[in-house]
Amino acid sequence: MADCLFCKIVGGQIPASITFRDEHVLAFKDVNPKAPFHELVIPLRHIADLSAAGGSDAELLGRLLLAGAARAREAGHGAKGFRVVMNTGADAGQTVFHAHLHVLAGRSLGWPPG
Ligand code: AMP
Ligand code: ZN
Repeated sequence: MADCLFCKIVGGQIPASITFRDEHVLAFKDVNPKAPFHELVIPLRHIADLSAAGGSDAELLGRLLLAGAARAREAGHGAKGFRVVMNTGADAGQTVFHAHLHVLAGRSLGWPPG
C-alpha cells in the first residue's frame, strides 16, 4: 500500500527503531510510548485491521502474538507481565490502518482500559 505509514516502515522509506524482523513480521518501538516498554508488531503484508483478517491470515496472526510475547520476554517483562492490544476501528481508537499488535509492559496497567 503506497500511502500506508507502516508499509513504508516495512519498506525502509520511513525510519523506525526496529527490534525484530523475520520473513513474516516486524517489531519496532512505538514513537509515542504509553508505558516504559511499548513496541508494535506488524505483519509485513498489509492487512488494514483485525476485522479485515480472514482464515488465511490465521498463521500470521499467531506469529504476531508469539513475536510480541518473545519481545516482552526478551526485554525482561516475562515474569511481571505484559499486555497485548489490537485497537480495531474508530471506537477502539485505531489511528493507523495497517494491523498492529501493541505490546505494553513496565508498569501496572489499569483494567478496564479507558
Ligand atoms: P493505534 O492508535 O492503535 O492505531 O496505534 C498506532 C500507534 O502507532 C500509536 O501508538 C502511535 O504512537 C504509533 N506510531 C505512529 N507513527 C509511528 C511511527 N512513525 N513510528 C512508530 N510508531 C508510530
Ligand atoms: Zn500497510
